[in-house]
Amino acid sequence: MEYIRNNSKVKWMELLPDEFLERQNNCPLVYLPMGLCEPHGHISAFGLDTIKAEYICEVAAQEAGGIIAPTQGYHIHETGYHAPWLEEVVGEVNPYMASIPPNILLHLFLYQLRAFNNAGFKAVIVISGHAGGNQEDLRLVASTFMEHYNMKVEIRADPELVKEKYEGDHAGKYEISQLMYIRPDLIDMSKISRQFKDETLGRFALGTDASEASPELGKKIINSCINETCRIAGNLIRSIDKKAPVKTIDFEQIEELWKKIAREQRDWTTWNLHKGQNPAGEGSRWKKYERWVPSL
Ligand SMILES: [Zn+2]
Repeated sequence: MEYIRNNSKVKWMELLPDEFLERQNNCPLVYLPMGLCEPHGHISAFGLDTIKAEYICEVAAQEAGGIIAPTQGYHIHETGYHAPWLEEVVGEVNPYMASIPPNILLHLFLYQLRAFNNAGFKAVIVISGHAGGNQEDLRLVASTFMEHYNMKVEIRADPELVKEKYEGDHAGKYEISQLMYIRPDLIDMSKISRQFKDETLGRFALGTDASEASPELGKKIINSCINETCRIAGNLIRSIDKKAPVKTIDFEQIEELWKKIAREQRDWTTWNLHKGQNPAGEGSRWKKYERWVPSL
């Protein structure tokens, strides 16, 4: 199945009130694209994760219905398993990235779910272009929210959408192909040898098989991602009560829920190393947040 982006408006920020209500009445489903700016080698734009998440959501909404929420363009990084990963693929250079800690992102995410509920949505699809483990913590927050409120939330990092067919990576064949297909103007393969020559930035997190990337592969991966997102959307739409009245959630209620979630924060995936993962070296600039958890 090939999906092609068209000109129909599906973004909350671009819709007029009558257009918003018409779309929402037909399909009270909201999509939240998530990503961040982080290194993807010298050949790629920083925003790869964000750009693919937005694209998948936009085409899925055009196909299956629903509205795209404003993108969450900052994401969890530096903590737990990210620390040795950064040491390995970025080294000690400045990664020029838009990173925030888990407690801030997840607290905000809870308020984003509240905003979707209060604006009349009945179901949410979160597509995170940033994978690696943050999606587990997003699911933790969503499941606590769903225990208390009548909202259905599905969360996927994009490699999870295609896990039977393709293996996700970081700035390798998988990811670079995705951006080559969506935004060929944001990839410059002529810069690929800079990973060996650039004394300031070095490898800059490029995947070892990035040179095998192609727009043809990217097209297949992205179409598969959209296809699975549409399937999830269809299931959600069939399972929700479109006519259920909006029950407003207050700030205080969210803060109560947050306290409950934060009490368990030491177990969050994003504060911890992955099983069997080697820790960062003592001298690494990334060491400091490997085990760091804020006091409540
Ligand atoms: Zn990425």
